[in-house]
Amino acid sequence: MLFHNSLEFAQKLDAEDPLGPYRDEFYFPKVNGKEVIYFTGNSLGLQPKRTQRYIDEIMTDWKELAVEGHFHADKPWWDYHERLAEPLAKVIGAKPEEVCVLNTLTVNLHFLMASFYTPSPDRFKILCEEKAFPSDQYMLQSQVRWHGLDPEKVIVTVKKRKGEHFWRTEDVIAKVEEIGDELALILIGGVNYYNGQFFDMQAITQAGRSVGSNVGWDLAHAVGNVELELHSWDVDFAAWCSYKYMNSGPGNASGIFVHERHLGKDGIPRLEGWWGTKKETRFLMKPQFEPMPNADAWQVSNPPVLALAPYLASLEMFNEVGMTALVEKRNRLTTYLEFILKEIDKEVDSTFEIITPLDRGCQLSVLLHGEGRPLFDFLMENGVIVDWREPNVIRLAPAPFYCSFTDMYQFGQLLKQGILTRISNG
Ligand SMILES: *Cc1c(COP(=O)(O)O)cnc(C)c1O
Repeated sequence: MLFHNSLEFAQKLDAEDPLGPYRDEFYFPKVNGKEVIYFTGNSLGLQPKRTQRYIDEIMTDWKELAVEGHFHADKPWWDYHERLAEPLAKVIGAKPEEVCVLNTLTVNLHFLMASFYTPSPDRFKILCEEKAFPSDQYMLQSQVRWHGLDPEKVIVTVKKRKGEHFWRTEDVIAKVEEIGDELALILIGGVNYYNGQFFDMQAITQAGRSVGSNVGWDLAHAVGNVELELHSWDVDFAAWCSYKYMNSGPGNASGIFVHERHLGKDGIPRLEGWWGTKKETRFLMKPQFEPMPNADAWQVSNPPVLALAPYLASLEMFNEVGMTALVEKRNRLTTYLEFILKEIDKEVDSTFEIITPLDRGCQLSVLLHGEGRPLFDFLMENGVIVDWREPNVIRLAPAPFYCSFTDMYQFGQLLKQGILTRISNG
């Protein structure tokens, strides 16, 4: 498609956008009395207007029913989490029984490691990407030490090639094959938080499984952003948070995927609690643990219903729209943003560079040459909420649910103004 860097053209794209009306389903913060241009849906998604109603429902049930709400609320609390499994399964390409919502992300990674990282003297290595999200690095290192092993000898990282800003699939696969029989686990962020790269999850999973390794994915930046087929890609396990593209509120609950081949198995190592036992016999308070036949077996505590309510509201919206339509708009919106960035870059004489490869979700990471922090401050002061990563990268994530083509055009104008002001100020 031929794009134009003009307000008229951007407005025409908005008018043709089938998801356009969804913008009005969200609250936008305001700067100088104007709704912001929001590029940080990869960090905290905007609040859907309908979320309040879902929370109020729980508050009212609690007020009116107290403990009876566990079984007699309209949406009973004791199995409230079950309502999320089916809509979430559609978002990640899984069977509902492979999905559960519980805990928070890093906590879930620890719990899943208890099941899927069981090192032996022969098979103990872990493969991850260089400079993984810090929480994932701390999680991996502490798990390794907790097993009495040395992270230096266990954790192998795949590096980018010199002068390149992305990982090559063939380099990941070559590492997998090089480690071979010693590889116990691959754990990578499906979409990298820094450069926005969407890894070839299917190829990497296949490579890992064919050397006998478990393969898990941290999908914090992937879920609700890219199309996933976790079941048919044969992924062993995955976890993600719900507050980034899933718009479920700060610090909110995490989801897990456990492939059906691991469900209902005796003897799988797992850290257990009462909400993982069979619901039919749970309240007999028996001493033996009888695992739920689905991913709920990993559930430890009774569900945090006040946290699940916003996630349910959000999932309802994802299912109304569907990932296919979201991905279609995402591609168009991100390509338009990329076009605008390149146009502006020409006008200001090449002062920045997009480091996100074409395998990506909606995020574009822009490396600034010499602009730096003052430009970021200028954008923030002018109602563009972006994110700054040291040393010199701004991350732009136009979430297709609520960002418009007009936002992209207006951002381009502000960016240009910011750079030119800076240059003329010397
Ligand atoms: C956002 C993010 C996290 C955050 O973890 P929490 O436990 O929810 O604080 C972890 N890993 C990755 C890759 C992330 O992008």
